[in-house]
Amino acid sequence: MSAPAEAAPARIPVMIPWLGEEEAQAAAAAVRSGWVAQGPRVAEFEAAFAEKVGAEHGIAVSSCTAALHLALVALDLGPGDEVVVPSLSFIATANAVRYVGAHPVFADVEPATGNLTAATVDAVRTERTRAVLAVHQGGVPADSHALRERCADWDIALVEDAACAIGSTVGGKSVGQGALLAAWSFHPRKVVTTGEGGMITTDDAVWAARLRRLREHGMNASAAERHASSKPVLERYLEVGFNYRMTDIQAAVGLVQLGKLDEMVARRRSLAARYDTLLREVPGLVPVRDPAYGQGNFQSYWVLLAEDFPLGRDEVLAALSEAGVSARRGIMAAHLEPAYQGHPHGPLPVTERISRDSLILPLFHTMTGEQQDRVVGALAAAAGSGPGRG
Ligand SMILES: *Cc1c(COP(=O)(O)O)cnc(C)c1O
Repeated sequence: MSAPAEAAPARIPVMIPWLGEEEAQAAAAAVRSGWVAQGPRVAEFEAAFAEKVGAEHGIAVSSCTAALHLALVALDLGPGDEVVVPSLSFIATANAVRYVGAHPVFADVEPATGNLTAATVDAVRTERTRAVLAVHQGGVPADSHALRERCADWDIALVEDAACAIGSTVGGKSVGQGALLAAWSFHPRKVVTTGEGGMITTDDAVWAARLRRLREHGMNASAAERHASSKPVLERYLEVGFNYRMTDIQAAVGLVQLGKLDEMVARRRSLAARYDTLLREVPGLVPVRDPAYGQGNFQSYWVLLAEDFPLGRDEVLAALSEAGVSARRGIMAAHLEPAYQGHPHGPLPVTERISRDSLILPLFHTMTGEQQDRVVGALAAAAGSGPGRG
Protein backbone atom coordinates (compact mmCIF):
# COMPACT_ATOMS: atom_id res chain seq x y z
CA MET A 1 0.00 0.00 0.00
CA SER A 2 1.23 3.44 -0.76
CA ALA A 3 1.38 6.10 1.91
CA PRO A 4 -1.84 8.10 2.29
CA ALA A 5 -2.00 11.01 -0.10
CA GLU A 6 -0.94 14.26 1.48
CA ALA A 7 -3.79 16.67 2.15
CA ALA A 8 -4.02 19.22 -0.64
CA PRO A 9 -2.63 22.56 0.50
CA ALA A 10 -5.31 25.05 1.49
CA ARG A 11 -6.68 27.34 -1.19
CA ILE A 12 -4.92 30.71 -1.35
CA PRO A 13 -7.43 33.56 -1.10
CA VAL A 14 -6.97 36.82 -2.97
CA MET A 15 -7.31 38.92 0.20
CA ILE A 16 -7.85 38.38 3.93
CA PRO A 17 -8.27 41.41 6.19
CA TRP A 18 -5.69 41.51 8.99
CA LEU A 19 -8.00 41.50 12.00
CA GLY A 20 -7.15 40.20 15.47
CA GLU A 21 -8.11 39.98 19.10
CA GLU A 22 -7.51 43.70 19.59
CA GLU A 23 -10.23 44.62 17.06
CA ALA A 24 -12.59 42.08 18.68
CA GLN A 25 -11.97 43.62 22.12
CA ALA A 26 -12.48 47.14 20.79
CA ALA A 27 -15.80 46.19 19.19
CA ALA A 28 -16.86 44.45 22.40
CA ALA A 29 -15.96 47.55 24.45
CA ALA A 30 -18.16 49.69 22.19
CA VAL A 31 -21.06 47.26 22.67
CA ARG A 32 -20.56 47.18 26.46
CA SER A 33 -20.48 50.99 26.59
CA GLY A 34 -24.10 51.02 25.49
CA TRP A 35 -23.37 53.61 22.77
CA VAL A 36 -23.36 51.69 19.51
CA ALA A 37 -24.52 54.25 16.89
CA GLN A 38 -22.43 57.25 15.79
CA GLY A 39 -20.83 58.67 18.93
CA PRO A 40 -17.50 59.32 20.66
CA ARG A 41 -15.60 56.53 18.88
CA VAL A 42 -16.65 57.85 15.47
CA ALA A 43 -15.41 61.32 16.47
CA GLU A 44 -12.11 59.83 17.64
CA PHE A 45 -11.70 57.79 14.46
CA GLU A 46 -12.41 60.85 12.30
CA ALA A 47 -9.75 62.90 14.10
CA ALA A 48 -7.17 60.11 13.96
CA PHE A 49 -7.85 59.39 10.30
CA ALA A 50 -7.70 63.06 9.25
CA GLU A 51 -4.41 63.45 11.08
CA LYS A 52 -3.01 60.33 9.42
CA VAL A 53 -3.68 61.65 5.91
CA GLY A 54 -2.83 65.26 6.78
CA ALA A 55 -6.31 66.73 6.33
CA GLU A 56 -8.10 69.22 8.58
CA HIS A 57 -11.41 67.34 8.80
CA GLY A 58 -12.63 63.75 8.56
CA ILE A 59 -16.32 62.92 8.17
CA ALA A 60 -17.05 59.23 8.71
CA VAL A 61 -19.84 57.68 6.66
CA SER A 62 -21.30 54.24 5.96
CA SER A 63 -19.25 53.51 2.82
CA CYS A 64 -16.99 55.09 0.23
CA THR A 65 -19.95 55.06 -2.13
CA ALA A 66 -21.79 57.31 0.36
CA ALA A 67 -18.65 59.45 0.71
CA LEU A 68 -18.48 59.96 -3.08
CA HIS A 69 -22.18 60.81 -3.21
CA LEU A 70 -21.91 63.41 -0.43
CA ALA A 71 -18.76 64.95 -1.92
CA LEU A 72 -20.68 65.60 -5.15
CA VAL A 73 -23.69 66.96 -3.20
CA ALA A 74 -21.29 69.32 -1.37
CA LEU A 75 -20.14 70.63 -4.77
CA ASP A 76 -23.81 71.33 -5.67
CA LEU A 77 -23.55 69.25 -8.84
CA GLY A 78 -26.71 68.25 -10.65
CA PRO A 79 -28.46 67.86 -13.99
CA GLY A 80 -26.64 69.53 -16.87
CA ASP A 81 -23.25 69.19 -15.15
CA GLU A 82 -20.56 66.87 -16.47
CA VAL A 83 -18.10 65.05 -14.23
CA VAL A 84 -15.07 63.38 -15.81
CA VAL A 85 -14.46 59.89 -14.37
CA PRO A 86 -12.40 56.88 -15.38
CA SER A 87 -14.48 54.01 -16.69
CA LEU A 88 -11.66 51.81 -15.37
CA SER A 89 -12.82 51.74 -11.76
CA PHE A 90 -15.20 50.01 -9.43
CA ILE A 91 -18.66 50.99 -10.70
CA ALA A 92 -19.42 53.10 -7.58
CA THR A 93 -17.21 55.89 -8.98
CA ALA A 94 -19.43 56.49 -12.01
CA ASN A 95 -22.64 55.73 -10.11
CA ALA A 96 -21.96 58.54 -7.60
CA VAL A 97 -22.20 61.03 -10.48
CA ARG A 98 -25.55 59.54 -11.48
CA TYR A 99 -26.87 59.82 -7.90
CA VAL A 100 -26.73 63.64 -8.10
CA GLY A 101 -28.26 63.64 -11.59
CA ALA A 102 -25.04 64.78 -13.27
CA HIS A 103 -23.53 63.15 -16.35
CA PRO A 104 -20.42 60.94 -16.04
CA VAL A 105 -18.00 61.46 -18.92
CA PHE A 106 -15.58 58.57 -19.27
CA ALA A 107 -11.93 59.46 -19.81
CA ASP A 108 -9.23 56.97 -20.71
CA VAL A 109 -6.32 56.16 -18.39
CA GLU A 110 -2.56 55.96 -18.48
CA PRO A 111 -1.32 52.41 -19.28
CA ALA A 112 1.28 52.19 -16.50
CA THR A 113 -0.95 53.23 -13.57
CA GLY A 114 -4.53 52.74 -14.75
CA ASN A 115 -5.25 56.31 -13.65
CA LEU A 116 -6.55 59.52 -15.22
CA THR A 117 -3.97 62.13 -16.22
CA ALA A 118 -4.38 65.81 -17.09
CA ALA A 119 -4.06 64.82 -20.77
CA THR A 120 -6.76 62.14 -20.69
CA VAL A 121 -9.09 64.52 -18.83
CA ASP A 122 -8.36 67.34 -21.26
CA ALA A 123 -9.33 65.08 -24.17
CA VAL A 124 -12.95 64.82 -22.96
CA ARG A 125 -13.42 68.14 -21.17
CA THR A 126 -16.25 70.42 -22.40
CA GLU A 127 -17.71 73.75 -21.25
CA ARG A 128 -20.16 71.78 -19.09
CA THR A 129 -17.40 69.99 -17.12
CA ARG A 130 -17.73 71.00 -13.48
CA ALA A 131 -15.56 68.40 -11.76
CA VAL A 132 -13.14 65.52 -12.19
CA LEU A 133 -13.47 62.42 -10.04
CA ALA A 134 -9.98 60.92 -10.15
CA VAL A 135 -9.30 57.46 -8.70
CA HIS A 136 -6.09 56.27 -7.06
CA GLN A 137 -6.76 52.89 -8.61
CA GLY A 138 -5.87 49.78 -6.64
CA GLY A 139 -3.76 51.99 -4.38
CA VAL A 140 -1.54 53.20 -7.24
CA PRO A 141 -1.53 56.96 -6.72
CA ALA A 142 -2.77 59.19 -9.52
CA ASP A 143 -0.60 62.26 -10.07
CA SER A 144 -2.99 64.30 -7.96
CA HIS A 145 -0.62 67.26 -7.62
CA ALA A 146 -0.47 67.71 -11.40
CA LEU A 147 -4.23 67.10 -11.72
CA ARG A 148 -5.01 69.67 -8.99
CA GLU A 149 -2.98 72.32 -10.79
CA ARG A 150 -4.64 71.69 -14.13
CA CYS A 151 -8.14 71.54 -12.63
CA ALA A 152 -7.45 74.87 -10.90
CA ASP A 153 -6.42 76.34 -14.30
CA TRP A 154 -9.64 75.03 -15.82
CA ASP A 155 -11.67 76.27 -12.81
CA ILE A 156 -13.18 72.85 -12.09
CA ALA A 157 -13.18 70.83 -8.86
CA LEU A 158 -11.03 67.74 -8.35
CA VAL A 159 -12.55 65.07 -6.10
CA GLU A 160 -10.27 62.16 -5.25
CA ASP A 161 -11.61 58.61 -4.99
CA ALA A 162 -9.02 57.27 -2.56
CA ALA A 163 -11.09 54.16 -1.70
CA CYS A 164 -8.07 51.88 -2.09
CA ALA A 165 -5.26 54.32 -1.33
CA ILE A 166 -4.80 54.76 2.41
CA GLY A 167 -1.03 54.73 2.98
CA SER A 168 -0.15 55.59 -0.65
CA THR A 169 1.86 58.77 -1.28
CA VAL A 170 2.37 61.46 -3.92
CA GLY A 171 5.55 63.51 -3.72
CA GLY A 172 6.27 62.05 -0.29
CA LYS A 173 2.89 63.16 1.10
CA SER A 174 -0.13 61.03 1.92
CA VAL A 175 -2.72 60.70 -0.81
CA GLY A 176 -5.53 63.05 0.19
CA GLN A 177 -3.27 65.67 1.78
CA GLY A 178 -4.26 69.00 0.24
CA ALA A 179 -7.26 67.45 -1.59
CA LEU A 180 -10.44 69.52 -1.92
CA LEU A 181 -12.45 66.41 -1.08
CA ALA A 182 -11.17 62.83 -0.85
CA ALA A 183 -13.30 59.71 -0.34
CA TRP A 184 -12.04 56.56 1.41
CA SER A 185 -13.31 53.00 1.88
CA PHE A 186 -13.08 50.59 4.81
CA HIS A 187 -14.53 47.59 2.99
CA PRO A 188 -12.60 44.37 3.84
CA ARG A 189 -11.18 44.25 0.30
CA LYS A 190 -9.29 47.50 1.04
CA VAL A 191 -6.32 47.90 3.39
CA VAL A 192 -7.92 49.32 6.58
CA THR A 193 -11.34 47.81 7.33
CA THR A 194 -14.33 48.45 9.57
CA GLY A 195 -16.51 45.81 7.89
CA GLU A 196 -18.28 48.46 5.84
CA GLY A 197 -17.45 52.13 6.16
CA GLY A 198 -16.12 55.23 4.51
CA MET A 199 -14.66 58.67 5.16
CA ILE A 200 -14.51 62.05 3.48
CA THR A 201 -11.50 64.26 4.19
CA THR A 202 -11.23 67.97 3.42
CA ASP A 203 -9.48 71.10 4.68
CA ASP A 204 -12.63 73.19 4.24
CA ALA A 205 -14.54 73.82 7.49
CA VAL A 206 -17.74 74.93 5.73
CA TRP A 207 -17.89 71.79 3.60
CA ALA A 208 -17.04 69.66 6.65
CA ALA A 209 -19.99 71.11 8.61
CA ARG A 210 -22.34 70.57 5.70
CA LEU A 211 -21.11 67.00 5.12
CA ARG A 212 -21.72 66.19 8.80
CA ARG A 213 -25.28 67.45 8.39
CA LEU A 214 -25.84 65.65 5.11
CA ARG A 215 -24.87 62.26 6.53
CA GLU A 216 -27.43 62.74 9.31
CA HIS A 217 -30.67 63.72 7.55
CA GLY A 218 -29.65 67.37 7.15
CA MET A 219 -29.98 67.91 10.92
CA ASN A 220 -28.30 70.95 12.45
CA ALA A 221 -27.51 69.11 15.73
CA SER A 222 -26.24 65.55 15.81
CA ALA A 223 -27.76 62.89 18.06
CA ALA A 224 -24.47 62.83 20.00
CA GLU A 225 -24.62 66.61 20.57
CA ARG A 226 -28.21 66.39 21.75
CA HIS A 227 -27.28 63.56 24.10
CA ALA A 228 -24.38 65.58 25.56
CA SER A 229 -26.46 68.71 26.13
CA SER A 230 -28.03 69.34 29.55
CA LYS A 231 -30.85 71.37 27.94
CA PRO A 232 -33.30 70.10 25.37
CA VAL A 233 -31.97 70.74 21.86
CA LEU A 234 -34.65 71.25 19.22
CA GLU A 235 -33.03 70.16 16.00
CA ARG A 236 -33.88 71.61 12.59
CA TYR A 237 -33.56 69.93 9.20
CA LEU A 238 -31.80 72.43 6.99
CA GLU A 239 -31.83 70.46 3.74
CA VAL A 240 -32.69 66.98 2.48
CA GLY A 241 -29.97 64.72 3.85
CA PHE A 242 -29.31 61.00 4.16
CA ASN A 243 -28.65 58.35 6.77
CA TYR A 244 -25.02 57.65 5.93
CA ARG A 245 -23.72 57.31 9.49
CA MET A 246 -20.96 54.98 10.67
CA THR A 247 -21.51 53.13 13.96
CA ASP A 248 -19.27 53.37 17.03
CA ILE A 249 -18.69 49.61 16.78
CA GLN A 250 -17.18 50.10 13.32
CA ALA A 251 -15.14 53.12 14.43
CA ALA A 252 -13.71 51.14 17.37
CA VAL A 253 -12.41 48.54 14.91
CA GLY A 254 -11.17 51.28 12.59
CA LEU A 255 -9.10 52.92 15.33
CA VAL A 256 -7.23 49.67 15.95
CA GLN A 257 -6.79 49.08 12.22
CA LEU A 258 -5.44 52.59 11.70
CA GLY A 259 -2.78 51.92 14.33
CA LYS A 260 -1.62 48.95 12.21
CA LEU A 261 -1.61 50.85 8.91
CA ASP A 262 2.13 51.52 8.59
CA GLU A 263 2.91 47.87 9.31
CA MET A 264 0.28 46.71 6.82
CA VAL A 265 1.60 48.94 4.04
CA ALA A 266 5.22 47.93 4.72
CA ARG A 267 4.22 44.26 4.55
CA ARG A 268 2.25 44.71 1.32
CA ARG A 269 5.13 46.59 -0.30
CA SER A 270 7.62 43.90 0.69
CA LEU A 271 5.38 41.10 -0.65
CA ALA A 272 4.94 43.11 -3.88
CA ALA A 273 8.71 43.49 -4.24
CA ARG A 274 9.12 39.74 -3.79
CA TYR A 275 6.45 39.09 -6.46
CA ASP A 276 8.33 41.44 -8.82
CA THR A 277 11.49 39.36 -8.42
CA LEU A 278 9.76 35.99 -8.77
CA LEU A 279 7.72 37.09 -11.78
CA ARG A 280 10.83 37.93 -13.79
CA GLU A 281 10.90 34.17 -14.41
CA VAL A 282 7.51 34.29 -16.16
CA PRO A 283 7.86 36.14 -19.46
CA GLY A 284 4.91 38.12 -20.72
CA LEU A 285 3.64 39.37 -17.35
CA VAL A 286 3.95 43.07 -16.60
CA PRO A 287 3.43 43.81 -12.87
CA VAL A 288 2.04 47.13 -11.65
CA ARG A 289 4.80 49.40 -10.29
CA ASP A 290 5.19 52.61 -8.37
CA PRO A 291 4.97 55.66 -10.62
CA ALA A 292 7.86 58.16 -10.62
CA TYR A 293 5.90 60.70 -8.53
CA GLY A 294 4.74 58.46 -5.68
CA GLN A 295 4.41 55.13 -3.90
CA GLY A 296 1.48 52.74 -3.74
CA ASN A 297 0.18 50.61 -0.89
CA PHE A 298 -0.35 47.62 -3.25
CA GLN A 299 -3.98 47.29 -2.16
CA SER A 300 -4.20 45.32 -5.40
CA TYR A 301 -1.19 43.67 -7.01
CA TRP A 302 -2.20 43.46 -10.64
CA VAL A 303 -0.32 42.12 -13.64
CA LEU A 304 -0.97 42.86 -17.29
CA LEU A 305 -0.62 40.03 -19.81
CA ALA A 306 1.59 41.00 -22.75
CA GLU A 307 -0.13 40.94 -26.16
CA ASP A 308 1.73 37.70 -27.04
CA PHE A 309 1.00 35.91 -23.75
CA PRO A 310 0.09 32.31 -24.72
CA LEU A 311 -3.19 32.27 -22.77
CA GLY A 312 -6.10 34.65 -22.43
CA ARG A 313 -6.74 36.24 -19.06
CA ASP A 314 -9.77 34.09 -18.26
CA GLU A 315 -7.79 30.95 -19.10
CA VAL A 316 -5.06 32.09 -16.71
CA LEU A 317 -7.68 32.64 -13.99
CA ALA A 318 -9.07 29.15 -14.62
CA ALA A 319 -5.59 27.57 -14.46
CA LEU A 320 -4.85 29.37 -11.19
CA SER A 321 -8.17 28.29 -9.74
CA GLU A 322 -7.40 24.70 -10.73
CA ALA A 323 -4.10 25.03 -8.83
CA GLY A 324 -5.89 26.27 -5.69
CA VAL A 325 -5.16 29.96 -6.18
CA SER A 326 -7.96 32.54 -6.04
CA ALA A 327 -7.06 35.41 -8.33
CA ARG A 328 -9.45 38.01 -9.74
CA ARG A 329 -10.00 39.70 -13.06
CA GLY A 330 -8.34 43.11 -13.13
CA ILE A 331 -10.15 46.37 -12.63
CA MET A 332 -13.56 46.50 -14.30
CA ALA A 333 -14.63 49.01 -16.93
CA ALA A 334 -17.98 50.61 -16.11
CA HIS A 335 -18.81 51.43 -19.74
CA LEU A 336 -18.85 47.71 -20.59
CA GLU A 337 -21.48 46.87 -17.95
CA PRO A 338 -25.22 46.64 -18.69
CA ALA A 339 -25.82 49.53 -16.26
CA TYR A 340 -24.03 51.84 -18.73
CA GLN A 341 -25.30 50.31 -21.95
CA GLY A 342 -26.05 53.12 -24.38
CA HIS A 343 -24.18 55.68 -22.28
CA PRO A 344 -22.21 57.76 -24.81
CA HIS A 345 -18.41 57.75 -24.61
CA GLY A 346 -15.36 58.28 -26.79
CA PRO A 347 -12.71 55.66 -27.52
CA LEU A 348 -11.26 54.05 -24.37
CA PRO A 349 -8.55 51.74 -25.77
CA VAL A 350 -6.25 51.66 -22.72
CA THR A 351 -9.19 51.09 -20.35
CA GLU A 352 -10.41 48.19 -22.49
CA ARG A 353 -6.97 46.64 -22.81
CA ILE A 354 -6.24 46.76 -19.05
CA SER A 355 -9.69 45.55 -18.16
CA ARG A 356 -9.47 42.64 -20.62
CA ASP A 357 -5.87 41.54 -20.05
CA SER A 358 -5.10 42.11 -16.37
CA LEU A 359 -5.55 40.04 -13.25
CA ILE A 360 -5.14 40.63 -9.52
CA LEU A 361 -2.93 38.16 -7.65
CA PRO A 362 -3.39 37.16 -3.99
CA LEU A 363 -1.68 39.51 -1.54
CA PHE A 364 -2.57 39.67 2.16
CA HIS A 365 -0.75 40.54 5.36
CA THR A 366 -0.23 36.98 6.58
CA MET A 367 0.75 35.59 3.19
CA THR A 368 3.80 33.31 3.39
CA GLY A 369 6.72 33.00 0.97
CA GLU A 370 5.60 29.45 0.28
CA GLN A 371 2.14 30.68 -0.75
CA GLN A 372 3.70 33.29 -3.02
CA ASP A 373 5.91 30.62 -4.60
CA ARG A 374 2.80 28.53 -5.27
CA VAL A 375 1.06 31.44 -7.01
CA VAL A 376 4.07 32.12 -9.24
CA GLY A 377 4.59 28.40 -9.89
CA ALA A 378 0.98 28.09 -11.03
CA LEU A 379 1.39 31.11 -13.32
CA ALA A 380 4.61 29.73 -14.80
CA ALA A 381 2.95 26.35 -15.41
CA ALA A 382 -0.01 28.07 -17.09
CA ALA A 383 2.30 30.17 -19.29
CA GLY A 384 4.33 27.10 -20.26
CA SER A 385 1.22 25.12 -21.18
CA GLY A 386 -0.01 27.62 -23.74
CA PRO A 387 0.07 26.83 -27.46
CA GLY A 388 2.72 29.48 -28.08
CA ARG A 389 5.30 27.84 -25.84
CA GLY A 390 7.09 24.47 -25.62
C1 LIG B 1 -14.22 49.84 -3.31
C2 LIG B 1 -14.31 51.07 -4.10
C3 LIG B 1 -15.38 51.96 -3.96
C4 LIG B 1 -16.58 51.67 -3.10
O1 LIG B 1 -16.26 51.54 -1.73
P1 LIG B 1 -17.39 51.05 -0.72
O2 LIG B 1 -16.81 51.42 0.63
O3 LIG B 1 -17.53 49.57 -0.89
O4 LIG B 1 -18.64 51.78 -1.02
C5 LIG B 1 -15.35 53.14 -4.68
N1 LIG B 1 -14.34 53.42 -5.52
C6 LIG B 1 -13.30 52.58 -5.70
C7 LIG B 1 -12.20 52.96 -6.62
C8 LIG B 1 -13.26 51.37 -5.00
O5 LIG B 1 -12.24 50.53 -5.21
